[in-house]
Amino acid sequence: MRTLAVVGGGVIGLSVAWRAAESGWEVTLFDPEVGSGASWVAGGMLAPLSEGWPGEDDALEFGAASLARWPEFGARLFAATGISVFVAEQTLTVALDAADAADLRTIAGFVGAHGHDLRLLDRAEVRAAEPNLARTVRAALFSPTESAVDNRLVFEALRRCCAQSGVRMRPEVVTSLDDLAHDRIVLAAGAASARLWSSLPVRPVKGEILRLRHRPGAPPPPRHVVRARAHGRQLYLVPRGDGIVVGATQYEAGFDTTVTVAGVRDLIADAESILPALGEYELAEASAGSRPGSPDNLPLIGRLDDRVLAATGHGRNGILGVPLTVDAVAALLDGDVLADAKAADPQRFLSGGKR
Ligand SMILES: Cc1cc2nc3c(=O)[nH]c(=O)nc-3n(C[C@H](O)[C@H](O)[C@H](O)COP(=O)(O)OP(=O)(O)OC[C@H]3O[C@@H](n4cnc5c(N)ncnc54)[C@H](O)[C@@H]3O)c2cc1C
Repeated sequence: MRTLAVVGGGVIGLSVAWRAAESGWEVTLFDPEVGSGASWVAGGMLAPLSEGWPGEDDALEFGAASLARWPEFGARLFAATGISVFVAEQTLTVALDAADAADLRTIAGFVGAHGHDLRLLDRAEVRAAEPNLARTVRAALFSPTESAVDNRLVFEALRRCCAQSGVRMRPEVVTSLDDLAHDRIVLAAGAASARLWSSLPVRPVKGEILRLRHRPGAPPPPRHVVRARAHGRQLYLVPRGDGIVVGATQYEAGFDTTVTVAGVRDLIADAESILPALGEYELAEASAGSRPGSPDNLPLIGRLDDRVLAATGHGRNGILGVPLTVDAVAALLDGDVLADAKAADPQRFLSGGKR
């Protein structure tokens, strides 16, 4: 039987390990603390279209191809575990001022030219869709296909899938890929991937995020994912069964995952300007994680040498990227390249695959 080592047990490593085990590989997954990375912290938005921007064509197409695979991937998780991971079906990106509204028109034009469906809503239509948003919201971009998942349920489902399909879990830090004797290796160590392959341009991008719990008497969470720019900062509200996830700050701070007072203050202030009743919720959790950032906002999925494949660098869209990454790695393990993931080949940054 062919042997595969997967280094890293976030959503990327777990999903790759599951698919490979189902395809007949003998899989060992190395991670000293499965679930300690960005995958546990994330918001779970699947929003490549609303994030589209002229010039970022490859990132848009990669994200859209993965979004299109999510319904089937979610159904497979449900079939294997009984866990239903979706928490919202659609996304609204709201505008508070004329500059925001102009940006929404730019996004709609760019994304529409790529054949994806986004629709501008006026003030009354936004109010009908989400009655509890602030009166200052003047327009929105409605995305009928951008859903959201509970990333912690995704993580839990994947963990069960790995156990059921015979993936061996080794709670160890890998210090050198040369120590692994397996036929093939998938490097999926998130923001720490460059520690094991130094020429990989993956860096940590810090993000703080809040989990708010609904309290009796408070208005219910929005039904849509709500995205906005408030006080010049990007913000999103992702509904959960019991509340709302409010994310996320984004800045370079090395591997620091301390939650700062300023981060929490800004998130709450920004979120209240979009959903005024938010102050009635319980602040249940504040956490921070390191996104595995890449220079061009596309992941790094492909061959590094004859034995090692990269599946990393997903930045702020690694939950979104799971289904396409799994298909791409499965194809690579079979000696093929998946057309939808071609732009993510790490060789665009590496001359000759050097370490
Ligand atoms: C605040 C925040 C909000 C986010 N929101 C979203 C969102 O709404 N939608 C979305 O799509 N994405 C979101 N993301 C991004 C997403 O979380 C990441 O892109 C994704 O989780 C990356 O998954 P991963 O498996 O590559 O890495 P991780 O989940 O970070 O897992 C990496 C794993 O590798 C292990 N590891 C590291 N080094 C070694 C080693 N040497 N040996 C063995 N194991 C090792 C670690 O212990 C860790 O468990 C968000 C991220 C943050 C921080």
